Amino acid sequence: MSEAHTINTAISDEAVAALATGMRGACFTPGDAGYDDARIVWNGSIDKHPAIVARCSGVADVIDAVNFARANGVLVAVRGGGHNVAGNAVCDGGIVIDLGAMNAIRVDVAARRVRAGGGATIGDVDRETQAFGLAVPLGIVSGTGIAGLTLCGGHSWLNRKHGFACDNLVSVDMVTADGQYLTASEAQNADLFWAVRGGGGNFGIVTSFEFEAHPTGPEVTFCGPFYPLKDARDAARIFRYWRDFVADAPDEYTANFLFWTIPAHENFPAELHGRPVVIPAGMHCGPVAEGAQYIQPLRELGEPLLDISGTLPYSALQQAFDPYFTIKRERRNHWKSLYHDTLDDDAIDRIVARALDRPHPTSLLAIRHMGGAAARVPAETTALGGREANFMLSIDTSWTDPADSDRAIAWTRDFWDEMRQGTGGGIYLNFLGDGEDNEAMLRASYGDATFERLVAVKTKYDPENFFRLNQNIQPMPRTG
Ligand SMILES: Cc1cc2nc3c(=O)[nH]c(=O)nc-3n(C[C@H](O)[C@H](O)[C@H](O)COP(=O)(O)OP(=O)(O)OC[C@H]3O[C@@H](n4cnc5c(N)ncnc54)[C@H](O)[C@@H]3O)c2cc1C
Repeated sequence: MSEAHTINTAISDEAVAALATGMRGACFTPGDAGYDDARIVWNGSIDKHPAIVARCSGVADVIDAVNFARANGVLVAVRGGGHNVAGNAVCDGGIVIDLGAMNAIRVDVAARRVRAGGGATIGDVDRETQAFGLAVPLGIVSGTGIAGLTLCGGHSWLNRKHGFACDNLVSVDMVTADGQYLTASEAQNADLFWAVRGGGGNFGIVTSFEFEAHPTGPEVTFCGPFYPLKDARDAARIFRYWRDFVADAPDEYTANFLFWTIPAHENFPAELHGRPVVIPAGMHCGPVAEGAQYIQPLRELGEPLLDISGTLPYSALQQAFDPYFTIKRERRNHWKSLYHDTLDDDAIDRIVARALDRPHPTSLLAIRHMGGAAARVPAETTALGGREANFMLSIDTSWTDPADSDRAIAWTRDFWDEMRQGTGGGIYLNFLGDGEDNEAMLRASYGDATFERLVAVKTKYDPENFFRLNQNIQPMPRTG
């Protein structure tokens, strides 16, 4: 597009020095101590070298960084928690506007409202909210950034009770491409508020999120029997039982059916390391006695290798999977997802066959049960697509040897292509590998009408596609 924000690869040292001097936060350039730490992101497949990482301390730094990038024609990446698997939080040669240091949380207990900085993680929010018996539905690994997660939806253990993370947004403060600072809510800039609830980082940099919080826990019930992944027939039997069981689940129960391999980690008995398993996992957030009774049938589907089911603090569950999903540069990832209205026996057989043939033991297949409160929000309230689906298949392929990359990525794409038959092809935009986004995929995920509406909002707030390192919605070309 001729009017697009033009990218300049040569940035003068004087301009960089002026930005660094003015900022309250730190600026890192190649050669600086701390540069390598500042440029890495969660996915070990991503290895990019920005010209500058601007670690902002506050809104003024964000405004300066945006104005600097616009004035100097610099490619912009925005970093919240750096967990995006496609690696959108970093770029080669441009500027990373890093909000990681803007992670303050304030809980208004009486109003059940939470303010969280644009670089906060799920763990930051959980820590402060659980001190008052509250929770914001965000996600299930505590190091994940709330920004990327919320702007594209946010699936959590509370999805069926309280909806997606974005359904719990009350307002956002943002810096737009022209360096303006504004608030978006139902009452102010309502078009923008609609768009940021599902439309990702296309419209500006969110410096602060305001969420509604809900009384949760402190104790919840977790369902976690680890059945051996013996053979296709047995795995399909457990999977079908789970599918039928969750069909009439109460809103209190959000389930996530997993195919995994027990990692060689001290949390697990050594004799179980490396054993492939099927886990009909889930969390019940109602009274614990009710939860224990509800999950019992899922614990009696065979002889588990291990059963970690039980009552535990919500904050402990939110951190339970952290050790296996921390930033490890040797772990490479390519993820894809697909929404399903139904999971018939044939689909189950096909998923099981792939589960038995994963490219690497660390690769995870997760089937999230949806519905409940998330499905009752009218589709037109937010830009988020896919909320009407009953299941989401998440293919979280990971591997360690770079020589395996082509095979692992091809396996993921092939599996996705096979499963796509009979679905609308809609995906969860937060589970997306590098190089996977394109207009056809975005249209399938949002639906044509929502996509067109998003293009209109993008054209209004970011006509030059200044924010393009995301699931990019391109603005309309300028006419005349
Ligand atoms: C281990 C792991 C577990 C996960 N678990 C879940 C889960 O349970 N539920 C779920 O829904 N998702 C989950 N995800 C996916 C997660 O939602 C996405 O990876 C998401 O992009 C992470 O957000 P982030 O801020 O860390 O990402 P980043 O990599 O920092 O950024 C992602 C995108 O958001 C944009 N962005 C970041 N910050 C801002 C900001 N402040 N303002 C505007 N745009 C911004 C970036 O430009 C980029 O396009 C998980 C991912 C990982 C790696």
